[in-house]
Amino acid sequence: MYPVMLSLAGRPVLVVGGGRVALRKVRGLLAEDARVTVVAPAAVPEIEDLAEQGKIVLERRPYRDGEATSYRLVLAAADDREVNRRVFEDGERAGVFVNVADDPELCSFHLPARVVRGPLQVAIASAGRAPFAVRRLRQLLDRRLGEDWAAWADAAGGFRERVLAAPGLAPEAREAIFDRFFRETVDPATLSARVPDDGEMDEWLREAGTGRRTPGPGLVSLVGAGPGAPDLLTLRARERLAAADAIVVDRLAAPALPRDLPPEVEIHDVGKDAGHHPVPQEEIEALLVRLAREGKRVVRLKGGDPFVFGRGGEEVEALEAAGIPWEVVPGVTAGIAGPAAAGIPVTHRREAVALTLVTAHECAKDEDQVPWDLLARQRHGTIVGYMGMATLPRVVERLLAGGMDPATPAAVIERATLPDQRVVRAPLAELPAAVREAGVCPPALFVIGRVAARGTPRERARRS
Ligand code: SAH
Repeated sequence: MYPVMLSLAGRPVLVVGGGRVALRKVRGLLAEDARVTVVAPAAVPEIEDLAEQGKIVLERRPYRDGEATSYRLVLAAADDREVNRRVFEDGERAGVFVNVADDPELCSFHLPARVVRGPLQVAIASAGRAPFAVRRLRQLLDRRLGEDWAAWADAAGGFRERVLAAPGLAPEAREAIFDRFFRETVDPATLSARVPDDGEMDEWLREAGTGRRTPGPGLVSLVGAGPGAPDLLTLRARERLAAADAIVVDRLAAPALPRDLPPEVEIHDVGKDAGHHPVPQEEIEALLVRLAREGKRVVRLKGGDPFVFGRGGEEVEALEAAGIPWEVVPGVTAGIAGPAAAGIPVTHRREAVALTLVTAHECAKDEDQVPWDLLARQRHGTIVGYMGMATLPRVVERLLAGGMDPATPAAVIERATLPDQRVVRAPLAELPAAVREAGVCPPALFVIGRVAARGTPRERARRS
């Protein structure tokens, strides 16, 4: 189906039928200033009234063969399907588009559901496949799109004319000023719009003319995306994302990216994942600096919390060195949210009074900076290991060598908070084998300590 919006003002349109459905079509056509003729042996009083007021022509008689051919568009809603069929066939022969109400076979075009706000229209269609879904979507949008959008659309139209008439604006400058109009007046999260006042619009135009929109480098926000589930983003993270000109996103953070971002935002997927660094760290840092120097509001979206094993500290150093302003928006770190999603509290009175967040990656190196032997002796602590799937057997070996009880409860949480989250539980000594057997892949965390025995059976059942 190919969507079009027809201009019907002054154009002849035929409506066949004089019942309630025909009346609805007539009203819709009159709203567009079409020249409407109704052909029907009998018509409801409202159609009669419209004819009497001279708003339509009413022919009180049956449809005549070939009649459809002298109109631009025909809507048929006769109660006799044979009549509707003749109208449709006449239309097909003469190349006139015909729609028969509730009879897709006899239609050369369909009428979408729509939400109208002044000059703005959102049309919804499903190629006739799921009218029920279309109706509900329409209701949804009708409720979400407030009446302000009508005045907003008028203001947007007026503003565009002024921008086009302004001398000396390059096409990119125009786009930038349209972006600004949209950003300053539309809240993508709530789908609400406000009408800017004349003073504001004057200022946007003036600033575009003098190129003052981008004074100095933009701000880089290092934003924590949380462990993956999009509703674990913080409100501040959402706010920064909605206002961003450019978003630089890691693979771990990608699932949390909201779907309702403004269409003009630039998204750079640097696809960093455990074990793979498709875009080298220095290039990511250079990209952040470049985008900021273009005057953009940049969001560096990182999995979990930006300052927990996320190289956030290094990125800040690079920004500092380049003189770029930056801020951090903390996120929900996977090391705490992951166990929680498996029903494991990382601290618990008497059982665990200390929590160690550790990168197990280190264990692969000759000079491991982690004092595993000290951790092994902590009877009332919890160890949460990030990036530990490859090195888990060595970690367990070191802990056992340090004197940790082989029966210490332990668990691994894979893809925590995502729809396909999995939890594997085993005593410490058996954890590597259990993980291998289950085929656990990154991202995954391990939890070692008495609290790892916790987690309600209900939680486990719901997740598995
Ligand atoms: N800054 C992030 C951690 C980045 S290091 C944070 O604060 O969470 C990457 C490691 O985090 C992965 O190897 C894995 O151990 C852990 N991780 C991140 N998201 C995870 C998730 N949804 N489920 C399990 N582990 C996760």
